[in-house]
Formats: sequence, structure tokens, C-alpha cells
Amino acid sequence: MAEEKSLNFLEEIIERDLHEGKHVSIVTRFPPEPNGYLHMGHAASICLNFGLSKKYGGYTNLRFDDTNPTTEETEYVESIKNDVRWLGFEWKNELYASDYFENLYLFAIKLIRLGYAYVDDSDSETIAREKGTPTQPGANSKFRDRSIEENLQLFEEMKAGKYNDGERVLRAKIDMAHINMLMRDPVMYRIKKAHHHRTGDNWCIYPMYDFAHGQSDSIEHVTHSICTLEFVPHRELYDWFIEKLDIFPSHQYEFARRNISYTVMSKRKLLQLVTEKYVDGWDDPRMPTISGLRRRGYTAESIRDFCDRAGIAKRENVTELSLLEFCVREDLNKIALRRMVVFDPLKIVLTNYNEQNEVVSVEDNPEDANGSFREVPFGKELYIEQEDFMENPPKKFFRLFPGGMVRLKGAYIIKCDEVIKDDTGKIIQLNCSYISESKSGNDISNIKVKGTLHWVSVQHAITAEVRLYDRLFKVEDPSNEEGDFKDYINENSLQIIEKVYAEPSLKNASINERYQFLRKGYFTLDKNSTEEKMIFNRTVTLKDTWAKEVKKG
Ligand code: ATP
Ligand code: MG
Repeated sequence: MAEEKSLNFLEEIIERDLHEGKHVSIVTRFPPEPNGYLHMGHAASICLNFGLSKKYGGYTNLRFDDTNPTTEETEYVESIKNDVRWLGFEWKNELYASDYFENLYLFAIKLIRLGYAYVDDSDSETIAREKGTPTQPGANSKFRDRSIEENLQLFEEMKAGKYNDGERVLRAKIDMAHINMLMRDPVMYRIKKAHHHRTGDNWCIYPMYDFAHGQSDSIEHVTHSICTLEFVPHRELYDWFIEKLDIFPSHQYEFARRNISYTVMSKRKLLQLVTEKYVDGWDDPRMPTISGLRRRGYTAESIRDFCDRAGIAKRENVTELSLLEFCVREDLNKIALRRMVVFDPLKIVLTNYNEQNEVVSVEDNPEDANGSFREVPFGKELYIEQEDFMENPPKKFFRLFPGGMVRLKGAYIIKCDEVIKDDTGKIIQLNCSYISESKSGNDISNIKVKGTLHWVSVQHAITAEVRLYDRLFKVEDPSNEEGDFKDYINENSLQIIEKVYAEPSLKNASINERYQFLRKGYFTLDKNSTEEKMIFNRTVTLKDTWAKEVKKG
């Protein structure tokens, strides 16, 4: 049975609203600006918005917040849609704030007619100066008391392209002494003679965020408009526009941004990492983007689980990266196919082994009750890991050493009889014997061994490249350190091992499949993998090596 979880504060608000009959069902929206790829912060917002409408019977719109003409790109729109779908959510309507330009323009005219908006000819410095400070009231612009007729005409001329960028703005007429600085006659429209990715050159006036977002919510009858805490001071203005326009009363609610340790979560910063080539694109497996995590092998299930466990807060906080890793390990442990891959080979020869074409049967996943098995070719010559052998082992070394015995996973118990070295004294081969009665599944040898090693047959092994990733930053909160956040990049965040030896079944590896390389971690095929050169990304290690380091101090 599912655990009873207490409601988060938004669920409480919604349940109350439904109970009081304020709404019969709820509408939320996810409103990305298409100026970058989605990151884990967006995942939090997606899970929240889509999760709430699903839970309470309603729907969620995907609305591209594309009111700023210069930064938006179609590539971003496509990647955003792809990521939301991949996370497992389906929107009701695909919408664009730019589709509301005509509505917004008519809303602006309505406010001018009501005496709530005016055209200001002041330059931006004057407007900023007259704004005042948090402790001092601002001053009224000398253009504030223009007649409604004059304002209508000037606004019409702004729209018609009669003025240059910055020559005039449309402002709301509220109160230049308001304690909330955002209420001191905020700018509603500015002139920007720029091409827009959807509306082309139809417009040269563009609405500001505050005069677009709430009205777009209202047009869509969004009941609960959820955003992050930095918008708290904007709520008053959000409500003011809706009240004066007398349109559908959408309401804004705020929660704390999702931050994760050892990374940055702002598109602007992530874009720098991409353009300055610190990483290999937005979907570099070290990026906290949804596409990066996907390429690294994270499952949608594990990301949703993380968002659920991390919950939502009303105060700024940083969630531990280790929680995200915990979630993906939980999921991968259930679904990953076990495979044997040797990273740093040491050759062993089974001197008494003379079978031909023997295959052993090894289970794909011990966590899976109806588990399947695969056949792995065995042979006289095998590779094991260098680190699984020690010539002079310490006590409690349960792997291989001269005279010692171990089990080869899914196969036989072997004994190390002889160590062969080259001229320099380097160990190049172990001669071993195998116990023929000890075959896994049919072991009548009565020998007990403590260690089990993974292995591959030299004759049958295929090769591949593996990429091991570490945290992208050396400090917990790079955005809060002195200087540039990029000064804190971990220069050892990528380790490439060009040639590892894998059991032949991995030849059929698929990008949609997840693997556990025994004792090495969870892996997935990289998108740049080819038949000639297979590349595997390590999603996460088997254990939390970082937590261990911290304990050791
Ligand atoms: P960035 O600073 O990365 O550009 P943003 O807030 O400007 O972020 P938008 O594309 O405007 O990004 O955001 C779309 C939605 O995702 C908004 O509702 C926003 O509040 C939410 N969102 C963005 N970043 C986070 C985050 N770190 N945690 C939670 N929600 C976020
Ligand atoms: Mg933004």
C-alpha cells in the first residue's frame, strides 16, 4: 500500500478552493521561456504543475513564454516539448504567449481608456531615477497626466513603428510612492524593432513580463499559477492588472526554486558552459539538464521520484545531489540488465580446461522475480580485473591471490597456481586450474569460497569505450562563491577509458536499455556510439562513494 503522505502547501490551498467551491476543477500551466534547454529546476516545476492537475482532475497547458523577441529559438521549443513528454507528461494545449499579442494590445487600450496607463517619452535613465529607492518615494513623470486621447494616439503610433527603440514606453498609472517598487508605474510595453520567431515583423512593441504573464494565465483560465519565490513582489501587480481589467481571476502562488548541490541551475549559466565549451553541448551527461541526465542514463521514473521526495518548499534551500543519485540507483537496481565488463584486464589461463564452445548461463537481473538468463561464452583464456588479484594480499582479501580460490560469476571455482611476470617484474598472466564439479547451478564440489569475480572470455570479448563522470563543480554551491562560478569547475569531471573488454551480449546493447556492469556501476549506451566503436556512459556508481569519502574526512 502506498505510504500516506501529508499534503504540501499547494495541495492544501487547492483542496480548500475545491471544497469551498471556488473552482470545480483546476488548470495549471508550465510556462518556459524558449531560451535554453530544460534543467532539473524545470523538472520540479513540471512535476508539480502536471502532478497537481492530474491529482485534482484538471489539466495543464504548455505555454511558451515568448514575449521577448530576441532570445527565443525554435530548437529550444522542440527540445522542451521532447523533454516534457519524456518525463511522462502530456499537456492539454500547446500555447504561445505571442499568440496573445493582439489580446494584450487590446487590454492595454482598455487600461488607457480607463485612465490606468500612459505613454512616457522619458528615457530609461530618467525613468530609473524617478523610480526612487526602497526608502524614498519616486517622482511622477512629467508625461504622467497626458489626456486619454493623446495616450491612445501615441500608443497607436508606437505600434505603427513611428518611434525608435527606447523613445517611448507605455506605463501603468499606479502610485510612484508605493512601498512596493514594482507598483511605481511599471512599464507595460517597450519598442523593440526585432524579428520574432513566430510573429515575424508584425509587432514592434512588446509587452513586459508583468503585463503578459498574468493576462495570459487569465485568458487560459488558469486557476493556480505557480512560480518561484522571486516573483512574490510581482504578485501585487499581477492582481492589480487582473482587477483593473476585470478578467478571469487567476492567482499566483510561489514556491522555492529547486537547487541541487555541486551544479548550477540557470539557463544563462548553463548556456555559458555550452558556448564556452566547458561541456559537450546542452545534453552533455554532466549537465543538470533533462537531456543531459537522459543521455547519462537517468530514467524519467527516477527523476519524478526525486522531485517527489525532494518535495516543495517555501524557503530557498539546496537539495543534495546524493538524493538524485539515490533515486536513480533505486530504479536501475530494479530494471538494469547485469553484464560483465573488465576495465583493466589481467589474463588468466585455465591450464586444466579443455572444453570447446562451452557457454554458461547467467541471470540478467537477480531483482527480477521472473528473471531471464543469458548465455556467456566461457574459455580457457579469460580476463579478470587487475585489482582483483594481489600477490601479497592483506588479511580478509577475498579475491584472488597465489594459492587462493574464487568463483568466476556464473561459472566455476578456480585456484591460482602460478604467477607469470615479464622481465620488469610486471605480472602478465596467472595460470589457474578450474574445479570442474563446481559449475554454478550444479555445484557438487563442496568447496566454499568468499569471493566472486566478473570475467570475460579473451576469445569472445568485444571492446568498448566507457566514460566515467564526476560532479561538474568542486564546491556545493558554485553560484554563491566569490568570483565567477566557472572558476569552480571540476576539471576531472570526465574520465575516458578507451578500451574495456565486455561480454559479447553487449554487442546488441540498445540506447533505451540500462545495464549494470557488475561491480562497476550502472551504464547506458551513449548517443554517439556506433557499431565500430561502442561508447557507454556511467550513470552512477553502485555505491555512494562520495558519502564514504565525507565520512572518512
Ligand atoms: P532560468 O533562470 O534557468 O532561465 P527561469 O525561471 O527563467 O529559469 P523559465 O523558462 O522562465 O526559466 O521557467 C519556466 C518555469 O519553470 C517557471 O514557472 C519557473 O518558475 C520554473 N523554474 C525555473 N527554474 C526553476 C527552479 N530552479 N526550480 C523550480 N522551478 C523553476
Ligand atoms: Mg526566465
